[in-house]
Amino acid sequence: MENGACNNGSCNGNGVAARPHVAMLVTPGMGHLIPLAELAKRLARARHGGVTSTLITFASTASPTQREFLASLPSAIESVSLPPVDLSDLPSDAAIETRMSEECARSTPSLTALLSRLATTRRLVAFVADLFGADAFDAARDAGVARRCLFFPTNLHALTLLLHLPDLDATIPGEFRDLAEPVALPGCVPIPGKDILAPLQDKSKACYRWMVHHGEKYCDAETILVNSFDAVEPDAAAALRHPKPGRPPVFPIGPLIQTHEEDASVTTMPPSPRAACMDWLDRQPEKSVVFVSFGSGGALPTEHMRELALGLEMSGQRFLWVVRSPSDEDGEVNANYYDAETKKNPFGYLPEGFVERTKEVGLLVPSWAPQTKVLAHKATGGFLTHCGWNSVLESLVHGVPMVAWPLYAEQRQNAVMLTEGVGAAIRVPEAKGKEKIAVVVREVMVGEGRGAAVRDKVAELQKKALAGLRDGGAATSALDEVVAKWIGEEK
Ligand code: UDP
Repeated sequence: MENGACNNGSCNGNGVAARPHVAMLVTPGMGHLIPLAELAKRLARARHGGVTSTLITFASTASPTQREFLASLPSAIESVSLPPVDLSDLPSDAAIETRMSEECARSTPSLTALLSRLATTRRLVAFVADLFGADAFDAARDAGVARRCLFFPTNLHALTLLLHLPDLDATIPGEFRDLAEPVALPGCVPIPGKDILAPLQDKSKACYRWMVHHGEKYCDAETILVNSFDAVEPDAAAALRHPKPGRPPVFPIGPLIQTHEEDASVTTMPPSPRAACMDWLDRQPEKSVVFVSFGSGGALPTEHMRELALGLEMSGQRFLWVVRSPSDEDGEVNANYYDAETKKNPFGYLPEGFVERTKEVGLLVPSWAPQTKVLAHKATGGFLTHCGWNSVLESLVHGVPMVAWPLYAEQRQNAVMLTEGVGAAIRVPEAKGKEKIAVVVREVMVGEGRGAAVRDKVAELQKKALAGLRDGGAATSALDEVVAKWIGEEK
């Protein structure tokens, strides 16, 4: 962090910057950092009082991808990293959600000190934590920060589940996956037990207890901001808008996605593969390419990777595929979570002759592609996605219909919601055979039945998403209301 106290605005007489400032704790992962950075960019706009921000990250996530992303942010957004904490006592197979929650909880003393220091040089009006960071509200309280806010980077369905989790924990004795009926929560598409959030799938695991804890702790916030919008989950939005004692007010302020002005993806990959993606897309016909990507860290088991390759080939569609070495080689489906880099040469795991046979219709990119630019390109006509929420929002904002292939976290329940509720995607069946993959890809790209309906729905949602983000739109007005409280201009 820069030491100059007033570099972001004029100072008052005590050397404290006059512009309102917000501290945001970003739990590990690009999928958490990107939307929070986007929130910080929106707050910096004049209509929101020109609020400046400090993004607080963890030393454990100091990957080159993250460093370059942070360096690319506008000057109204600073960043600082919390010192490492010892996690060596955790079992080596501890879930990623456990690691993030422990890291956050154990960082409370250093976070308290950091926030206290920040308050001496900034007009610190609020502290924002994301979904695994609710323990940090204690640090904010200890440091005397006036307002505590939860930023929930995924959707209203997942938020509803977590807010109900303490009750579900008390009333459902067995495992979710053994439930005979789907879990039906207010305003939500019923979710079959096996598709419920991955860290809730084994109640004996520490990550389950952590999630219950977070669900309780969320009520310690004064406000909850959610990166979603009414049109995509209208009934859940209506249910959460209904006030409930003890539950903070919920504001859908999405879709916040990577914007192009300071497009992070421009800097988060070396120039040649980036240029290669865009040059290649420039040469493809309109809406002819299916983009295939499993988020910042997802990888497939070898068998699925091979079937996907053959399925893409059979589909007859053009494709741009972000390839990582298989998860059974790297350890886990989310083995790349912290750094996005493929661990081994991924091309060696593809079926023999595949690269040569498809070189006229397919482009393979290792590790990382400029996703928002790819989705915005006129040649892109479909997105085979792991259903990470940022990817879903980016797809909707750019009007790209989806093939759902969920892997971990809340992705399976996102896939249920998108396919059975919203109608913006078609899901690849559980048994990942090449023929079925080819059928679903073709349907979403050019199908006249379900495919056409999905394409129409996505076009409708695109219009509504963009309308909400305009001045006076639902998302912008919701953020106006929250910021007015922070900076004391409540009407
Ligand atoms: N992303 C990207 N290039 C890639 C893979 C991912 O720019 O090759 C970005 C993507 O645009 C999105 C984020 O990384 O903003 C991934 O977030 P998401 O919630 O979709 O999934 P997660 O990474 O959390 O699983």
